[in-house]
Amino acid sequence: MLPKLKLHWQILIALILAVAFGYFTPNLVQYVSWMGVIFLRGLNMVVVPLILSSIISGVASIGSGTNLGRLGAKTLSYYILTSLIAILIGLLFVNLLQPGVGANLGNAETVNSLPTAGNSVSDILVRIIPDNIFDAMSKGQILPVIFFAILFGAFITQIPAKKQEFLVNLFDSVFEVMMKITMFIIRFTPLGVFAIVSKEVAKNSGSLGNIAGSLGIYMLTVLISLIVHGGIILPLSVKIIGKANPYKHFRNMAAPLLTAFSTSSSNAALPLSMEATEHKNGVSSKITSFTLPLGATINMNGTALYECVAVIFIAQAYGINLSIGQQAIVVVTALLAAIGSAGIPMAGLVMMTIVLTAVNLPLEGVGLILAVDRILDMSRTTINVWGDTCAAVIIAKSEGEKLNI
Ligand code: ASP
Repeated sequence: MLPKLKLHWQILIALILAVAFGYFTPNLVQYVSWMGVIFLRGLNMVVVPLILSSIISGVASIGSGTNLGRLGAKTLSYYILTSLIAILIGLLFVNLLQPGVGANLGNAETVNSLPTAGNSVSDILVRIIPDNIFDAMSKGQILPVIFFAILFGAFITQIPAKKQEFLVNLFDSVFEVMMKITMFIIRFTPLGVFAIVSKEVAKNSGSLGNIAGSLGIYMLTVLISLIVHGGIILPLSVKIIGKANPYKHFRNMAAPLLTAFSTSSSNAALPLSMEATEHKNGVSSKITSFTLPLGATINMNGTALYECVAVIFIAQAYGINLSIGQQAIVVVTALLAAIGSAGIPMAGLVMMTIVLTAVNLPLEGVGLILAVDRILDMSRTTINVWGDTCAAVIIAKSEGEKLNI
C-alpha cells in the first residue's frame, strides 16, 4: 500500500482517516478493529525477545563491569533528572492555571473498574528481580526481563573466551533476526494505527462535551506542560548536551512517535523506536539496546508530569490546599509512580493511587479525570517515547559516537 510515501506520512494519513472514520461511522469500526488487535499482538510478540537479545548482546559488548556501571549510572541519572524537570514544569503550570479550582465534583465518574496500584515503593524495587524469569517473560513484565538480561550479558564476559564468543554470536544473530521481524511488522503500522484510533474515536467522541469547563482547562494544562517539556526542554538538551540537530532527530522519530500517540503504549512503540534510533540516527545497537528498553519502562517524562498535574488538579477540585511540603511529596511520589508505571495504556492512571495516598487525597478523585484520560494518555506516551529517544542520542554522543543527525 502507498509504496512511495514514507512510513510516517502513511501513519499520519491513517491517523487522520481514522479520526473521520471513527467519528462519522462508529458502527463500522467493529469491522476493522481486528487489524489493530493483530498489530498490537505482533508488537507484543517481538518485544520480549527483542529486548532480551538486544540487551544481552549490547551489554556483553560493553565489556567490563566498570563501563557498564558508568553507562548505567549516566543513563539512570539522566532519566531521573529529566523526569524531575518535567514534573516541575507541570507543577508550575498547574499552580499558574489552577484548573481544578471551582471544578464540579458531581461530574466525577465512579472508579470501581479501576484497579488500584497497591504498590509501595519497596514493592516496585523488589519486583525488578524476577522470581521466575520465564513467568516474567510470559507476562511481558519488562523490568524483570531487563534486569535478567543485563546480568546475563554482564556475566557472559566472565566465562572462557570460546564460549563467550559462541554466546555473543548467538544473541547477536537472534537480535538481527528479531530486528528483521520487527521491520516486517512495522510495515503494517498504518493499518494498525487506523484500526486502533478509529475505535478509540468511536468510543470517546461522545465525551467531547467534557472538554468544556474545568476539564478543558485541565487538559490544556497537561498539554501545555507536555509541549513545553517535549518541544523546548528536550530539544534544547539534544542540541546543547548532545550537540545534535533536534529537528532532524524529530523527523527520524516520526514513525515511533505517531505509533506511541496512536497506541498509548511505550512498549508497543519500543520496537519502532529501536529501529529508527539505530538505523536512521546511527546510534550503536550497544546504546539503543541499553537505553531504550530501560527508558520505555522507567523514563516516563510525560507520565511523571501528568501524575503531578492530575493530583494537584484533584486537590484543587476538592478544595484542599497542598502546602509546599505536600507538593514536594507529590513531586517525589510522581517520579516514583512514573518509574513504576508499565509502558501500557492507562498505567499512569493506576499508579496515581500512590501519589494520592501519599498526600491523603481521596482515591475517588481519579474519577474526575477519567473522561479525558485517553487523549492525555496518547499525549503523555508520545512525550515518554520522545524523551527516551532524546536520551539515546545524548548518551550515544557522550560516549563519543558519530551520528547522522
Ligand atoms: N501509557 C503510558 C506509556 O505507555 C503510561 C501511562 O499510562 O502514563 O508510556
